[in-house]
This record gives sequence, C-alpha cells and structure tokens, in this order.
Amino acid sequence: MEKKVDNTEETLNVDALFMGPKSENHKYFKETLNFLMDEHIHWRRDFHPDDKPVVSLREQREPDFEATLERTTNALLELSSKLKASSMPWFSARYLGHMNSDTLMAANLAYMATILYNPNNCAYEGAPATTALEIEVGKQFATMLGFDPEKAWGHITTDGTIANYEGLWVARNLKSIPPAIKEVKPELVEGMDDWQLLNLPTGKILDLVSKAKEAEVFEAVRERSVRGTGMQSGKLGKLLVPQSKHYSWTKAADVLGIGQANMVYVQVKENYRMDIEVLRATIDKFVSEKTPILGVVTVAGTTEEGAIDEVHEVVKLRDEYEKAGISFYIHVDAAYGGYMRSVFLDENDRFMDFDDLKERLHDGGILHKEIDWPSRDVYDAYKAMAEVDSITLDPHKMGYVPYAAGGVALKDKRAIDLISYFAAYVFEKTEDNPMLLGSYIMEGSKAGASAAAVWAAHRVVPLNIMGYGRIVGRSVEGAARFYNSLLSTSANEIEAAGKKFMVAPLTRPDFNIVDFAFNEVGNTSLEAMDKLNQKIYEQCSYNSGPVFNDDWITSKTDLAYEDYGDAPKPFVARLGIPAEEWDAVRSVYVIRSCVLTPFLTNNTTYAEYWGNFMNTIRDVLAFVVNLG
Ligand SMILES: *Cc1c(COP(=O)(O)O)cnc(C)c1O
Repeated sequence: MEKKVDNTEETLNVDALFMGPKSENHKYFKETLNFLMDEHIHWRRDFHPDDKPVVSLREQREPDFEATLERTTNALLELSSKLKASSMPWFSARYLGHMNSDTLMAANLAYMATILYNPNNCAYEGAPATTALEIEVGKQFATMLGFDPEKAWGHITTDGTIANYEGLWVARNLKSIPPAIKEVKPELVEGMDDWQLLNLPTGKILDLVSKAKEAEVFEAVRERSVRGTGMQSGKLGKLLVPQSKHYSWTKAADVLGIGQANMVYVQVKENYRMDIEVLRATIDKFVSEKTPILGVVTVAGTTEEGAIDEVHEVVKLRDEYEKAGISFYIHVDAAYGGYMRSVFLDENDRFMDFDDLKERLHDGGILHKEIDWPSRDVYDAYKAMAEVDSITLDPHKMGYVPYAAGGVALKDKRAIDLISYFAAYVFEKTEDNPMLLGSYIMEGSKAGASAAAVWAAHRVVPLNIMGYGRIVGRSVEGAARFYNSLLSTSANEIEAAGKKFMVAPLTRPDFNIVDFAFNEVGNTSLEAMDKLNQKIYEQCSYNSGPVFNDDWITSKTDLAYEDYGDAPKPFVARLGIPAEEWDAVRSVYVIRSCVLTPFLTNNTTYAEYWGNFMNTIRDVLAFVVNLG
C-alpha cells in the first residue's frame, strides 16, 4: 500500500526557503519575524493579565532610563557595524569556502522566536516545549539514517565534535561491560574467555546488559566498567580511524582517555576514501596479537575532500569477522554528509533502488540530466549506514540550520544506559517524558532554540528526496558544474601578467567539495606551486582584509604525507610536478571549495558565474605575479 503523498511536499520551491543572496525574500522574513515577536509580547502580557506593570510610562521618560536605553542602542549599533564590516557573506555563491551557506528562513525564524522564551533543554522542567521537539528530531534523525526510530535514540548536540565524543563514549563504555559482568556475575557469561568478552557484537552486549538488569546487578556492573575503573591503558583495544579523520577524533581520544597510542590511522586511497584492504590488514595484525578492536570510524564525507568512505565494505568486514568471533563497534562520522541520506529516501522514507533513484533525480528535476550522480559506491555507503552502531550528523552543515546544531543517533537505544547518570531503568520509564536530558548526554545546559530551529527546518523541508533531497541535489549539481568547468579548463587557457597557468581539480567529488590548485605552465617546483596557491587563497579570503570587496572567497587545506600518505602524488603530477618533487616536499597546498550554496544551478546563472570566476582568477593571478 502506498502512503498518500503530501502535495505540499511535491511543490517545495527551494528559492522560497532562504532569505536569498540579495535578500529577495526579506518582506516575508520581516513580516513573520514581527508577527512572532508580537506573539511573544502578548504571551508575556497574557500571563496573569491582571498583574500590574512593573515599569511605568513615567519611569520610561526618566533621564537615567532613557540613557540606559541609549547605552543599549549604542552597543547594538557598534555590534552591527562590526558584523557588517567583517562577517563572511555565506549567502552568496561567491562564497565557496567552508561548510556553510545561506540558512533556512524557517530555522532562523524559529531560532529567533524561541530565544525569547529561553528554554534550556538540559532538563524538561526548564524546557517542556523544546525538549519534546528535540526528542521528535531525534526520531527523525534515526529514520533518515536508516535506524528504527522506535528502537534507536537520537538527539541534538552542540556540534559534530560533541556528537563524535558521544559515539566514542558509548563505544568505550560498551566494550568494558562484558569483562565487568564477568567480575560481578560470571554465570551470565559462562564459558567465555577474555578474548571473547572483548569481541562481542553490540547487540549481544546490550542483551547482556538487559540480563544484568534482570539479575539486579547492573549498577554493580557499571561500577566495574570503565566508568568506575577508568581506562586501563590499551585494555579495550585500538580505535581505527581513517587518515582523513576530522581532528575532533584526536581530541576525543584525549578527552575519553583512550590515549593517542591507541588511535590507529588507516591509510586512504587516491580518492581519499579509507583503504579497506589496509583496514583489513590492520585488524588482522591486531587480532593476531590478541589486541581487541575498540571501534572503527568511517567518514561520510571527509572534511577536506568530501570523500565518502565505503561504509558498506566496513560493515561487510565486521560481519565477516563476527563469524570468526571478532567484533567491533562502527561509528560513521557523517557530520558533513549525514543529511545527504535524505536524497536516497522516497516520500515514505524508503531507501530507493539505485535505478529508481537515478530516474527520480533526473526526471524530478532534482539534478541536471547530464550529471551522473551518485556513484554506486556512494549509494551503497549510504545504504549501509542502517547497519552501523552510531552516526554523527550536523544540522548546521548540510541541514542549512544556523549554529550551533549537531546531532547523534544510536541504532540501539539501550546503549544510553551505559552513559547515563540516572539510576538504571529510569531512562526506559521516562522515555516519553524525558525529565533530564542532561544526565544522559554529554552536555549540560543547552539552547532549546537550536532544537526549535532544527525541528522547524524538518517541518518545512522533509528529510527525503522531496525535501532536503532538493537542496542537497542543487548543491551536488553546483559542485559538479564547478568541477567540470575546472576539469575542462585546459593548460595555457589562463593568461595573466604575460604568463600562462593551468588548473586541476584534486579528485572527482563524491559529494560537493571541490579541491583544486593552479600552477604556472612549465613550473616544476612544488614549493613554487604551493606558494602560488597560498597567495591566491590569501587574495580570496579574510587574509587580504575585509572580505566585503572580495570577488570570490574560499578556504584552503594542506594535504601532507603524514596525513594522507602518497594519495596526492598523482594530483601534483597532473599539474606538471615531477614525482621526485613530491617525494622531497610531501605536502601540497590546495584551494578547498565546499559548494553548499543552492544557487549555482541555473544554466544562465552558472555560465555568468563561471565567467566572473575566471576573470577574478586572472586578476588575482596578475596581482600575485606582479607582487613577485
Ligand atoms: C565538521 C566535522 C566535524 C566537526 O563538527 P563540528 O560541528 O564543527 O564540531 C566532525 N567530523 C567531520 C567529518 C566534519 O566534517
């Protein structure tokens, strides 16, 4: 039976979702904001209408009263000047830098309206309205990521960093549970040796937790787990993360006492995805030494390249190892790419067949017909997310929601008990009435306004192909266009200050980040090429002074051997740099453009955009060359 399709979702117009690069939708925005402010003003007045005003009209005319308001006005005008003088114009397609763009009007207005009510989602009693919204959003995260929303658990975090901490927190505590059970109630794990105890699949460990609760020893077990005993170096094994990891993982290992010595960086391939064969060899090596694997982190997509790790291969590997009695936790760091899973879901939240998806992307006008996306690997990776233990996703990245809003989802909500500071069992009893979010998440006080912003965004833009799919589709298309233009700009085509230049993209984007670099035709020095791109970046960023006059704004990154091995070698070769140069320098400076903007798709607009971009680059190159 087909569920009825909501017609309003069919007609979602992406251009009506944002304020717009030229504030095109300012009228609607202001009117609605005004209305929401009025609502709040009346709300205050309507609370015990017969209470007398505390501030009188007479007092409001007193000199010190007026002077106080003037101080407030002055402070705000000063702030406004500062904001206008040096903020980043994310809303414009001229900004192709960090993971940022215009944000949804619904989210901005929801945030602004909610902040006046100042709810604190740490505790239900401080935020009955917005705590409920956060719980609802958590279920939506779970559904979008392929988990059963009734069995999973999700919530809003400050950011992706905290979400990663929470994933590792669960993985760490989980791993330490079976040995603790053996100490407290050995009959529950009868016949298992220490190696087996450290290699149980997540579901089995959580079944044991349920049994420990039934036997009324769960509190004692928790005390014997890592939360009571602290980390004993190395005992819980190694955390395997790809070289391309976000630095929050390095911090997480520190904060959670894993220790850098127990972090193992797995090499990436030329496409910046974790090398699965290297992962397998790494696991084999540790297993042969009887060192357990605490967990494997996969990334979708990487912060610097937007590469989507082959999550499906990691899941396959785990399932294969489980047959040999070895298991490990899998966390997907989809801080960046999490929302992209919405593209793969039909309006009934079903993960579509590959061919259906392609057809709908093209026939539904979501992606230009000539853009062949996603690749089978990317599709399979997203499909496999349903099989992992936990996932990070950032509404403040591809969710187009203002800061700060991250998120995390766990496949099996029973895992909450391992990090909760409630007495055991309480969580389940109060699930529908979550009294104290703060006692089973990493944060304490947290803005209910963020929850309201994410909730409103999801309300307007459904987490499927008809909603976020349309926005993500536009972003993917913008990135594909930009990549194709760079790719087809042949050597010698760019002339500036009497010199010729070439440009090359790093790799075909899995998603929407385009990294690239320029080189002077004939130059074979990697150092000189790095310097050139650094100077270009400096002219196209805050480094050259206030960005308000910049014609194009971007970000950059270094791809160095210690992080990426030789993965960048073929790239520098394409720019005419000999292999020996790479072997000597082992680091390349690239321009990094995250194409989140939904405003780089229309044919005529894009052609104009590309022309302007090339003119800007010629000007910048001429400036840089003349600078010497
Ligand atoms: C952005 C990002 C993070 C960190 O998220 P914040 O919200 O900035 O804390 C973690 N992992 C990946 C892959 C990211 O792209």
